[in-house]
Amino acid sequence: MSDVLYIVVPCYKEEAVLPETSKRLKAKLLSLIESGKINPASKIMFVNDGSTDKTWSIIQELHKSNEMFSGVNLSRNRGHQNALLAGITTAVNYADIIVSMDADLQDDVDAVDKMVDSYHNGFDVVYGVRSSRKKDTRFKRFTAEGFYKFMKMLGVDIVFNHADYRLMSRRATEGLLQFGEVNLFLRGIVPQIGYPWTTVEYERSERFAGESKYPLKKMIAFAFDGITSFSVTPIRFIFKLGLVVFLASIVALIWSLFAKFLGYTVSGWTSLVCSIWMIGGIQLLSLGIIGEYIGKIYNETKRRPRFIIESIINDGKPIKDEHKI
Ligand code: UDP
Ligand code: MG
Repeated sequence: MSDVLYIVVPCYKEEAVLPETSKRLKAKLLSLIESGKINPASKIMFVNDGSTDKTWSIIQELHKSNEMFSGVNLSRNRGHQNALLAGITTAVNYADIIVSMDADLQDDVDAVDKMVDSYHNGFDVVYGVRSSRKKDTRFKRFTAEGFYKFMKMLGVDIVFNHADYRLMSRRATEGLLQFGEVNLFLRGIVPQIGYPWTTVEYERSERFAGESKYPLKKMIAFAFDGITSFSVTPIRFIFKLGLVVFLASIVALIWSLFAKFLGYTVSGWTSLVCSIWMIGGIQLLSLGIIGEYIGKIYNETKRRPRFIIESIINDGKPIKDEHKI
């Protein structure tokens, strides 16, 4: 019997796109079922991330109209990554293959075929990679690509131009769920799981309707989270910076002693003020970065739940424990 596929779609205030997204995903799933690549019990799982608009009632309607649609309702807005994780955690109980995708149809739905083919060719993780960013604004392209390059520079294993459009097998998903960290950055964690992986290229299009739920502020927070969750390079940088400043201050000390003995003491005011400001600034910067890591430790030790599911609507049969690895 062929494998059950679940397409997990996090949705935050997506009432404008859901009717179209559901239509296209349904057509895609039906064609995959028809071609025998996936099991007829496959489903589309929408995760409502605490939307304040009609998103959840649309999902409920979809579920009533066709059992191919299922839904997970979060108790409140927890952000894209957590919503995705809530969907994956639920879907892994029913599915052999999980594809995650945004609700706005920016990711090319047709790439799912290639992903499923790669899965059948023995790959556990298939990353959807944007072949170009022509449709993104110049600013978004510049900041996003800069982010991937910066992450690589810091030594983080990340797939270039891959967002959260990917296929994962059940064993890869179970591996992912063993990572218990609260500060979640899926793009960084998935490569850590291992198993055979490959990429599938697709053209990124414009958002079908509605607005981006990632304003600049959220994007910066996301990038900062990604960097501090995966790399200790900033801490090492502080250490090196501290060393350089320390050596420079020794030179300055010798210089000021010379100046004192040569009788130029009054003229030292400028350098004194400059160094106070500079060292003060560096210390503050360093404290800020260290604080970020301590903040992370603080969050991790609390072990707070990453999401709370209010309800699940799904007619699928859970996979019994003996099927699990
Ligand atoms: N999203 C979510 N919770 C949030 C913000 C976004 O579930 O708090 C979902 C959103 O509905 C979409 C996906 O995350 O399906 C990506 O968001 P968006 O398309 O707005 O981001 P962009 O493509 O502009 O980076
Ligand atoms: Mg989008």
